[in-house]
Amino acid sequence: MTQQQRIAVIGGGMGGLTAGVLLQRAGFKATVYEQAKQLARIGAGINIYPNGMHVLRATGVVDHLLAIGQTPATWFSRVWDTGELLYSQPEAAWHKKYGEPHIILHRGDLQRSLASQLRPDSIQFDKHLVGIEEVGDVLKATFADGSSVEADVIIGADGVNSRVRELLLGPQPPKYSGFVAYRSVFPASRLSRPLDSDGCKFWSDDRHWANEDRHMIIYYTTKAKDEVYFVTGSPDPNWEGTTPVDVTIQEVKDHYAGFHDEVQRVIDASVQISKWPLLTRDPLPLWSSGRIVLLGDACHPMKPHMGQGAGMAFEDAAVLARCLQEKRDDIEGALKLYEANRQGRASKVQRISNANTFLKYEEDPTWCFGYNAMTVPLQPAGEAAKPPQAECA
Ligand SMILES: Cc1cc2nc3c(=O)[nH]c(=O)nc-3n(C[C@H](O)[C@H](O)[C@H](O)COP(=O)(O)OP(=O)(O)OC[C@H]3O[C@@H](n4cnc5c(N)ncnc54)[C@H](O)[C@@H]3O)c2cc1C
Repeated sequence: MTQQQRIAVIGGGMGGLTAGVLLQRAGFKATVYEQAKQLARIGAGINIYPNGMHVLRATGVVDHLLAIGQTPATWFSRVWDTGELLYSQPEAAWHKKYGEPHIILHRGDLQRSLASQLRPDSIQFDKHLVGIEEVGDVLKATFADGSSVEADVIIGADGVNSRVRELLLGPQPPKYSGFVAYRSVFPASRLSRPLDSDGCKFWSDDRHWANEDRHMIIYYTTKAKDEVYFVTGSPDPNWEGTTPVDVTIQEVKDHYAGFHDEVQRVIDASVQISKWPLLTRDPLPLWSSGRIVLLGDACHPMKPHMGQGAGMAFEDAAVLARCLQEKRDDIEGALKLYEANRQGRASKVQRISNANTFLKYEEDPTWCFGYNAMTVPLQPAGEAAKPPQAECA
């Protein structure tokens, strides 16, 4: 593969922007095609742990993120009603051990920061992919506006409802998990006093409810601590929605009746709350076909309870860029190498995230946070069935 061959990245979310930046830095002509008309600061926070930060460091955004986001000094696990402390995450020790901090920030700020690292004019908006066809040696992607583009490789980074996945494997909607996330972002000035900690997860009690029931996570999204976010995992087995909707504050109050005062005052202070279906998929039979490949939620969506969905999309993007760089003249081989090196780890994270057990109590997260996708040795395709060992800084 010569350096001027073209890579079309479908989707300008977490994984697509990261892939675009890393591929450009590796010498490829990568362009990102995003269906939205522009990047928007929609109401959601995001946690990025050291494994994701290693990849973000390589994209050039980390200094900016540290200037705007919050590296929590305190992050607690607490019992839902009494607030009893279950675990205090050793944030400073993790930073030292894994070489990067855990950061919390607004998702829109992260997206904008990543997009700023792309070469000028290499992200195109209002490009909703509808089809892909193979024309001789090249792939042709067509968009809803009637335009098309030729590429040598197409990366489906188009999220949980991926059209690229559908073109490879046929139509199959993601599975509704029976759980929703309530999400809200609001100015911290709406609270009469600051949050009790920089970040906190209130867990349902195994003795009180069925094993996994509901939780609420609360944190600041800015270094200035002037913006607060909460996100939940809440059972709602009969909901038939497929896209986010706004809900009343009372609906969330009803779901969290009896929860600790910190939860109540955060719900009371919110202005607008949205409800999102939490979607999953069974493992896919393939991640690539020919010169078309998937990454992130397009191939392994998960319930978000481990705060690692974007982390896995970043890691996928990094390993994919490295595989394409290593096998420039063998694209299909590069895509197989990528899948072989990512499938085991992404599936493990997907399983644990869906179970919602991670870091409720003290545990060693080295297998997860100590993995550096920029440097982890690539295992040959036949030998990479086991997840690679984590490394520490
Ligand atoms: C409630 C909730 C909380 C979460 N919290 C965290 C967290 O704290 N930490 C974490 O790491 N992860 C978290 N996640 C998961 C994380 O958001 C996803 O795993 C991550 O965004 C996946 O990245 P992606 O690039 O695969 O997809 P996305 O970021 O969803 O990007 C997909 C992009 O593709 C575009 N697109 C879709 N279809 C097309 C098309 N046909 N043509 C062109 N463009 C298209 C979309 O507009 C979008 O911009 C959370 C998820 C939820 C639901």
